Amino acid sequence: MKIALKNLTVSYQRHPAVHHASGEFALGDATAIFGPNGAGKSTLLKAMMGALKPDAGSVELSGLAVRDIAYLPQQSEIDRSLPVSVTDLVATGLWHESGAFGRMGRTGLARVAHALEQVGLTGFAARPISALSSGQFQRVLFARILVQDARLILLDEPFNAVDAKTTFDLLELVRQWKEEGRTVIAVLHDYEQVRAYFPYTLLMGREVIAWGTTETVLTDANLRRAVDRTASWHDKAPVCHTDEEAA
Ligand code: ADP
Ligand code: MG
Repeated sequence: MKIALKNLTVSYQRHPAVHHASGEFALGDATAIFGPNGAGKSTLLKAMMGALKPDAGSVELSGLAVRDIAYLPQQSEIDRSLPVSVTDLVATGLWHESGAFGRMGRTGLARVAHALEQVGLTGFAARPISALSSGQFQRVLFARILVQDARLILLDEPFNAVDAKTTFDLLELVRQWKEEGRTVIAVLHDYEQVRAYFPYTLLMGREVIAWGTTETVLTDANLRRAVDRTASWHDKAPVCHTDEEAA
């Protein structure tokens, strides 16, 4: 198995949001993606889960099938008005096993119930998702990842607008995933969470600013550089000609 970025460039209307990123993720461990707003963190995760196509370079995911990858988008990108229950949503994590319109068997239901128990939502199975607090909703999304049994777990700001108790409980799940040998890659903004749970950090500022063990990456000098690099780009940034040549 290998999870790596190879000279990855991803653009919107040809303006690169992630620029020539290269490096390899630690397998079976947790890596935080850190960086200011607009640094390209969400763009990077979307390219990794296949929702955005690179302009140049590639994401290498060898030994992983689509079903092995779980992705949790930023809360702002999720439509919670759908009339579905907690069980319905968690059961979508079984999609690869049951097929899009397949019936969820007894074992599927039992796995959903067990996952809800693990995230502290026993008794919420029939609740409509629109009736949940943001912390409860985030627990539901983590339960979906639990039933999916993914080997690569991508989380985009999973604890934004989430209460402290929920954050703590869900961070314990991240710890469990690490112990189970899963690879967790999460965009985070809280320095203490990163230091406590994420041995590795990738610091983004449109480019890779630093990537390695968390204590070597999260230095004041690196953080300043990430802010400078992000700010020196803007939506009128020139198109990248090296990418054109490479394409
Ligand atoms: P982060 O997650 O680090 O805050 P993003 O990856 O969301 O950063 O965005 C990186 C840059 O790409 C920003 O300048 C942002 O405005 C731009 N961007 C993000 N999504 C789009 C989009 N759908 N269309 C055009 N530009 C976008
Ligand atoms: Mg983002």
